[in-house]
Amino acid sequence: MIKDIATPIRTKAILEKYGFSFKKSLGQNFLIDTNILNRIVDHAGLTKESGAIEIGPGIGALTEQLAKNCQKVVAFEIDQRLIPILEDTLSPYPHVKVIHEDVLKADVLSVMENEFKEIDDVMVVANLPYYVTTPIIMKLLEDQLPIRGIVCMLQKEVADRISAKPGTKEYGSLSIAVQYYTMAEIVMIVPKTVFVPQPNVDSAVIRLTRRLTPIVEVKDEAFFFQVTRASFAQRRKTLLNNLQSGLKNGKEKKELILSILEKVQIEPSRRGETLSIEEFARLSDALYDHFK
Ligand code: SAM
Repeated sequence: MIKDIATPIRTKAILEKYGFSFKKSLGQNFLIDTNILNRIVDHAGLTKESGAIEIGPGIGALTEQLAKNCQKVVAFEIDQRLIPILEDTLSPYPHVKVIHEDVLKADVLSVMENEFKEIDDVMVVANLPYYVTTPIIMKLLEDQLPIRGIVCMLQKEVADRISAKPGTKEYGSLSIAVQYYTMAEIVMIVPKTVFVPQPNVDSAVIRLTRRLTPIVEVKDEAFFFQVTRASFAQRRKTLLNNLQSGLKNGKEKKELILSILEKVQIEPSRRGETLSIEEFARLSDALYDHFK
């Protein structure tokens, strides 16, 4: 019986057969532990009726486990050298489609409309390339794709920031951007030993469950995100200082900012990291009419 792709022996054989060399610049750290992969797939809660989108299939380690657990898998891979390898390794799974494209440039919504016509439940499941983790997650969320959520491996440090709560040092504009669209939870911490080559950083798996409506209602999303980014621009500065620097003509409008903060009952001496998402929503709505 052929072993799963995600085993040290099979992975080594595939890499040797094709003379494949890893490209660090593409974040190529392949998984060689089927147990870890099965746990990742379990966290996605897939059924035989589900669809899965994978970012960066590599030689197909995770793709294979997804294929065994759902109706259809669509995988985006940027590295041309991997395409013939995937054709070979995934040949037993005709319900897998590999698209040779940079996911950051892809029209994922159109792909979903074409490839998942009969499928209602779609999850993104991935072992992400670490050099572009945040842009990929933000693209998938901002595109407002009709997915149930995302289960992905990423650097533990980024997973901590994404799932952070107010008042912690990890909490920042990334926590707010992701939690605005999803409920975020770290579901696994993963040792370096399950990858070839081993990454330099610790890894974690995060589950992002899409909210049907954003956690807060705001007048203008772009302005809300602008206010949150400005509030964290210099973490040691007060909210007032950061808003003065980050808002249009903020320096000259100190009194106006102070009066708005008073109106929404937020102390100007607080730091951005202490504000909840609800407080940021109240603040940005109150600032909007004056600073949009
Ligand atoms: N899924 C495989 C596994 O778990 O063994 C490989 C994961 S590896 C961490 C990341 C993969 O993403 C690599 O195959 C890499 O070539 C691919 N990749 C990197 N940047 C990408 C991008 N912008 N779009 C699509 N794939 C990308």
